Amino acid sequence: MENENLKADLERVRADILERKERITRVRTEPVPQDFEDQATEVENDETKFALNQELTIELRNVERALQRLAEGTYNICASCGTKINPERSRAIPSTTLCIDCAT
Ligand SMILES: [Zn+2]
Repeated sequence: MENENLKADLERVRADILERKERITRVRTEPVPQDFEDQATEVENDETKFALNQELTIELRNVERALQRLAEGTYNICASCGTKINPERSRAIPSTTLCIDCAT
């Protein structure tokens, strides 16, 4: 039951990440601005988008790993020391694979 809720949570998070990624990487349709200042802003936006996209990719990988661990029945086990992860922590950060001690 608990795991079912977690799975639903993780799948929701995954769908959200995918949607955000899709929005970021969508091909721009507006013409490139002629004004120099606008161009500078444009580049800055691209860099921000790139950084954000990378962040989302990492987040997505964590969520997918968590889903896999859930399926394998190792979800609550710390990937580093093997201790059971506090359920409170799992609820707060569904994609975590480390116990509080190893994460800090
Ligand atoms: Zn640990």
